[in-house]
Amino acid sequence: MGSDTIYLDNNATTRPHPLVVEAINEVLGDGFGNPSSIHGVGEAARRRVDAARSQVAELIGARETEVVFTSCATESINTAMRGVIDAARTERPRALITAVEHEAVHDVGAWLSSRGVEVVVLPVDGDGVLDMDRLDAELAHEPALVSVMLANNETGVITPVAEVAQRAKAAGATVHVDAVQAVGKLEIDVEGLGVDLLSLSGHKFHAPKGIGVLFVRRGSRSRPFVIGAGQEGGRRGGTENVPGIVGIGVAAEHMGAGIDARRAHLGALTQAIEERLQAIPDVRINGSRNGRVPGTVNVCFKGIEGSAVVLTAARDGVCLSAGSACAAAQYGGSHVLEAMGVPFEYLHGAVRISCCETTRLAEVERACEVIASAVSYLRAMGPSSALGDA
Ligand code: PLP
Repeated sequence: MGSDTIYLDNNATTRPHPLVVEAINEVLGDGFGNPSSIHGVGEAARRRVDAARSQVAELIGARETEVVFTSCATESINTAMRGVIDAARTERPRALITAVEHEAVHDVGAWLSSRGVEVVVLPVDGDGVLDMDRLDAELAHEPALVSVMLANNETGVITPVAEVAQRAKAAGATVHVDAVQAVGKLEIDVEGLGVDLLSLSGHKFHAPKGIGVLFVRRGSRSRPFVIGAGQEGGRRGGTENVPGIVGIGVAAEHMGAGIDARRAHLGALTQAIEERLQAIPDVRINGSRNGRVPGTVNVCFKGIEGSAVVLTAARDGVCLSAGSACAAAQYGGSHVLEAMGVPFEYLHGAVRISCCETTRLAEVERACEVIASAVSYLRAMGPSSALGDA
């Protein structure tokens, strides 16, 4: 990344923190042991894994024995959802997810449904907030699994997970939460939330790619997905990714510290971005005003393609995203904005700006100027300003 690049795509991935890089380099050099080996080199690796498990447990208020390391949040989500359904005692189990979940949850939902599970997709309102009445109505049918996200990756909208979990548990369901986009922006306390399973992804909070976490509450009704030689207490087979685990441990400790200051900084950036973008004609900021994590702004520009704005801004060294990185790769419209009822003429004009703790005010100010001039340029080109023209 060039020194003048402005990176505002932190919901897609984050730069590993210098302390994370340092710790991983040390492991790659000297700490290469297999944690299952019973000699000194293996034991040293085991100690590193144990320390990282404590750091992650501390971040989310879990017991160390409830933290399972995986390869990514997608694996954690597969393990959680498939594992709960696998353990369900009914013949035709039901699962509830929401319309705004990440593709990982939706695609597992589709897979479960192809295997005879009744998967119900709960709607959200125009602010992107879950319809709690509909949740209650569906809970009456006693689902085995309820899976919701804590913070949405496209809009930052927060789901009232503690309330969902309380109602779902009372109805006998096992509750999974995708907390990937909440780390370091919201306090995550598995006791306060009252959930059974919770997924995290290292690369969304300054650890590297290839490492994820699944919190599995002691005694919860779920089965393992990756079966192997008994690692992770038999809940996830495969030799541990020690460098990744050490990295996510250091990142977790860093994220847990200074959360108030980080939130305040991200809040100020969000406000600055919104004030500037609202000055552009025919614009709408998506998602509940008060119920969003700080640092994510999802904005739609009427009549133009969000991807065209992203590509035009990229020429000026500003990295943004049109909706989610996954949706951008498929050049599709956003299922999240569609579920929120964003009008057609705005729907394809979505741009996501996502900051992190090191993002500077001057960077978002410059990015907003670049976005405003990209929008005027594309609008001047007329309705044919599609992807290829940008
Ligand atoms: N859930 C959410 C909300 C996400 O934003 C992402 C990644 O974009 C995932 C799950 C999947 O994470 P991973 O890349 O670790 O598989």
